[in-house]
Amino acid sequence: MALRDIKHYKYDEILRKKSRPVEKIDEKIKTLIKDMVETMRNAEGVGLAAPQVGILKRLVIVDIGQGLEVLINPTFVSESGENIDYEGCLSVPGMRGKVKRPDRVVVEALDENGNLRQIEAQGYMARALCHEIDHLDGILYIDKVIEGTLEEFN
Ligand code: ZN
Repeated sequence: MALRDIKHYKYDEILRKKSRPVEKIDEKIKTLIKDMVETMRNAEGVGLAAPQVGILKRLVIVDIGQGLEVLINPTFVSESGENIDYEGCLSVPGMRGKVKRPDRVVVEALDENGNLRQIEAQGYMARALCHEIDHLDGILYIDKVIEGTLEEFN
């Protein structure tokens, strides 16, 4: 396992590119997942998307303190409600801002063993999933931040 460099929104254009689906969950992908978990924990983040470590693959991890979720090729099955709260990003260090997200989502994805499953999430977990999945399309939360709420944090 190894820590990977987290890309910074100001310097790394890769964060703005669209990621491609994972075609095969091979050893390379499994190593990437392990490295991403270590990198996320080391940075005390609650989520990380592969493009944040420079890999344009549709793969995200989330752990808001309720256990690790690995989502490969995630897609939204449904979204409902509204929830406005602060959000931050390891690629936008030292900042936070309020973003409107769906309050409930159902996401379908493969896990690290290639099993297709659905994850139902609400509130903070739904927010984390939306934020990470946006990264796969080159979208950052600062694109969606409610005007006037972006502020320095920590
Ligand atoms: Zn982020």
